[in-house]
Amino acid sequence: MEKINYKKSLGQNFLYDTNLLNAIASDGLVDKNCTVLEIGAGAGTLTKVLCERAKKVVSFEIDLSLKPTLDELKNTYENLTIYYQDFMDFDLNTLKFKDARVVANIPYYITTPIIFKLVESKEMFKSILVLIQKEVAERFCAKPQTKDYGITSVILQSLFNVKITRIVKKECFTPSPKVDSALVLLTPHQKYEIDNFEAFKKFVHTAFSMRRKTLINNLKNDFDKQKIIDGLKIFNFKENARPEEIDVKNFINLFKFLKNA
Ligand code: SAM
Repeated sequence: MEKINYKKSLGQNFLYDTNLLNAIASDGLVDKNCTVLEIGAGAGTLTKVLCERAKKVVSFEIDLSLKPTLDELKNTYENLTIYYQDFMDFDLNTLKFKDARVVANIPYYITTPIIFKLVESKEMFKSILVLIQKEVAERFCAKPQTKDYGITSVILQSLFNVKITRIVKKECFTPSPKVDSALVLLTPHQKYEIDNFEAFKKFVHTAFSMRRKTLINNLKNDFDKQKIIDGLKIFNFKENARPEEIDVKNFINLFKFLKNA
């Protein structure tokens, strides 16, 4: 393997521990029948484990200085395809994935854009396992009435079962980042029907625009105030309820009620 100059600007915190890499593939539910998408191949350590355990692996890496190392891996594993380009610019539809699984130690500087790009193409994926900063992972899984519960908790949990499968200590990475990480598994569920998901996302953003304010205050520019009061009453909330008190199901109930005004 070539000597690596780790680039902080590209979120390069690599993993080399074989036990941990195998645990990640297991948490990501990888088996011989599946196609896996990896974002950020790095030195290819996780990529290699995925190639050994999956039918097909498609990986992205933006840093061309890693190409010689990754090309070697490509010569060993014929089930591997690597795109040397920015994942954010790639049109996922061209891959024509069906029931694929995402398993990735993703670059932290673009965690949210990557997650939302995957969410937009959620029909292609059976599961999404990402290694991200622990505090961000806790926000993804947060329950109502907690400080971590917010926009991403509601949006992700409206579509997926979200759970932390494992904490990965900062010392496990080379170089070590400042904070610990967590593996988060997103599995799609069909609990709710949301016709216009873009409008729902906007609604949740507006509802949380001022965390300390009441829901009515946050929503009153977009909806009739009396209608919001009626909605809160129907779904058993007090008139002065704050956004963090509303669970995912009732966010969807309220959204549908107000949209149909
Ligand atoms: N998978 C490797 C591992 O676990 O050791 C590397 C993970 S490292 C956290 C993230 C990788 O994503 C880096 O190799 C980085 O160069 C790459 N990366 C950063 N931004 C990217 C982007 N926009 N598109 C594709 N790869 C990117």
